[in-house]
Amino acid sequence: MSESAEIYSFALQLPVYHCFDYKLSPEIDARPGQRYLLPFAQGYKLGLLISKVTHSEVTPGSLKAVEQCLDEEPLLSAHLLKLAQWIADYYCQPIGEVIFLMIPRYCRQQHVLNATEVLWWRANPEIDINLEQLKHRAPRQFQIMTALMDATQGLNASQLKQIHSHWHQQVKALQKKGWVQSHWMENLPVNDQALEKGPELTSQQVQVSNAILPQMKKFGVQVIQGVTGSGKTEIYMQLMQYILEGDQQVIYLVPEIGLTPQLIDRIRRRLGSGIVSTHSGQTDFQRYQSWDQCKRGVARVLIGTRSALFSEAPNLGLIIVYEEHDMSFRQQDGVRYHARDVAIKRAQMLDIPVILGSATPSIDTLYNLGRPHYHLHELPQRPNQTQPPTIERVDCKHTPLNTGCSPRLLQAIERHLNNHGQVLLFLNRRGYAPVIMCYECGWQAECHQCDARLTLHQSVNKLICHHCGYQQVVPTACPECGKNEIQHLGVGTQQLEAFLKQRFTRFQTIRIDRDSVKSATEIEHRLAPVAAGEPCILVGTQMLAKGHDYPNITLVGILDADQALFSSFYRAPERLVQTVLQVSGRAGRANKPGEALLQTAFPSHPLIQGLCHASYRELAEGILKERQLLNFPPYSRVVTFLADAIDLDSAMQRLRKLVDPIQRCSVNAELSIVGPIPALMTRRVGRYRAQLSILAVNFQTIRHMLREIMPVIVADKNTVKSRVVIEVDPQEL
Ligand SMILES: [Zn+2]
Ligand SMILES: [Zn+2]
Repeated sequence: MSESAEIYSFALQLPVYHCFDYKLSPEIDARPGQRYLLPFAQGYKLGLLISKVTHSEVTPGSLKAVEQCLDEEPLLSAHLLKLAQWIADYYCQPIGEVIFLMIPRYCRQQHVLNATEVLWWRANPEIDINLEQLKHRAPRQFQIMTALMDATQGLNASQLKQIHSHWHQQVKALQKKGWVQSHWMENLPVNDQALEKGPELTSQQVQVSNAILPQMKKFGVQVIQGVTGSGKTEIYMQLMQYILEGDQQVIYLVPEIGLTPQLIDRIRRRLGSGIVSTHSGQTDFQRYQSWDQCKRGVARVLIGTRSALFSEAPNLGLIIVYEEHDMSFRQQDGVRYHARDVAIKRAQMLDIPVILGSATPSIDTLYNLGRPHYHLHELPQRPNQTQPPTIERVDCKHTPLNTGCSPRLLQAIERHLNNHGQVLLFLNRRGYAPVIMCYECGWQAECHQCDARLTLHQSVNKLICHHCGYQQVVPTACPECGKNEIQHLGVGTQQLEAFLKQRFTRFQTIRIDRDSVKSATEIEHRLAPVAAGEPCILVGTQMLAKGHDYPNITLVGILDADQALFSSFYRAPERLVQTVLQVSGRAGRANKPGEALLQTAFPSHPLIQGLCHASYRELAEGILKERQLLNFPPYSRVVTFLADAIDLDSAMQRLRKLVDPIQRCSVNAELSIVGPIPALMTRRVGRYRAQLSILAVNFQTIRHMLREIMPVIVADKNTVKSRVVIEVDPQEL
């Protein structure tokens, strides 16, 4: 390479906090955001070009030369590179990991990227087609030909495959006759039906929508708090329509992939073509395709989970965070960030609005309402004037339960089913039974790799760890004493399902949890009888609490909420209140009144009483007061250092080294240091974990401390034995 080679810095997918410098020949049209193949260690690694470097720390002789540029067009725009830098700085995450999180998995390999157009077939409009003849001579061709003639836009391979598995031969024959033509086209979901008109908005909805519309041209956090079933989605529709009419794009974040089919369908019927989705149920290529369509501005609305936020959208005009309180917006492993908070940052950088919607806004969002740019809009009523059901306590302290159900709940289930209603039972515990033990010696089935019990999954006759996935066959005799006294305790969703199927034989029982459904389409398929309105029982975990809308559910039963009452997590009361209100809000959506029963052994606990009598805002005020008293977030800010190692001592030792330098930053004792202590689940997947939390009222104090402490962490070369991960604004202490 010539003398005039220039130096550029690249982000590599490695857990380090810096970029890597390489030489690049000036003949290459180097642009930030492109992928390059870089010589690294003994082989090659993919790197993303960040910027030109005027002065490199690396001695010129040891600078390596770049081998190959993979992209003509940058994958990430200057805006997204800036956002990546912000995430890396704010959350103290390795820059390379942030950058590679932002590009689709498909692009994290050395694929050369082509346009994602696919082949479509359509009937040749210029030829008179003799369908009658075809019908008798070649019925398969007839089947395909009629379908093609019905589809104005034509059909692609996957659509043709649904008509006939050997479609290819038939299409080839039809093409030979000149009856069918093929052409390359965007694989964009097309809605060729007439657009549906939405329901007439209530005066409440009109009011909210009119308040937000004039503010759609600039940055602002528009918080929409509407009781479950109040029609928040209709307002999102209005706002999206406004954005689409201005030829801009929308990113619509949802907490759960199970929500997407229902929602996409609804949005497509209303807003038309160009509505795409991205979620973990898709293949890497499908996800890349949606990302690419969004990047080229062809897709108008992108609906997806957390990482959809990082899609390039050249004309982005609005970000919607659906069910903003949901904790799944917080990424708990890998790059740790909060998608809702990053959405707000992205909107601010682009000077566009962001909508945070929920029936139960997070405590953080309610606290933030006092800040500039935050605006609250309320929908206190459902369009049909019904109210979410009041929650009734069922005292289970002195009542024997039958597989987790009280007699009162069982009676209510029977009554509602007989009245053609649907029943939703919420139990946030997967599997058959959470505890397996020996009655003779007290042995319990525990995971070899984690400090956790194994859960019985009877259908596969296995004990499974829900934290690391470890499985073993259920022992027939106790491994400790050899006696045949192994019993199970407690009820999981599988056991509840089996019990209900036996008890209510005339009705269907449908279970929805991570074991029973793996993909969005599977959820949709399973929920078909519910959508059809047949009387049935739905049993499920958290998955069911997320925004599904079933007009025929009239009874909601919450089986076991007591665990959360005595949790050591400070966010437990917030989660409990949100979950109970979200779940009970599924009842009585349409014209049928709803009923919600909450089983508890502690009916006089203030939180349980509050759930039955107070509004969400009143409950939230109480939680805020408590947090203020304890000086917990949002009244303080937290950063946690997590260390994991092959033994607890190494993990603790690693964190102890940080305490002195942190204390030096706390001149006027404005930092409170908690730990280091062993993490709540100390052993997980065979590694031991410890944590050190730092609280401060002023976030600038935390930032200052992080600036001082980062070099200490980076300089500690003991990374083979233990790794330190930083969590800014962690969900728990
Ligand atoms: Zn035993
Ligand atoms: Zn485990």
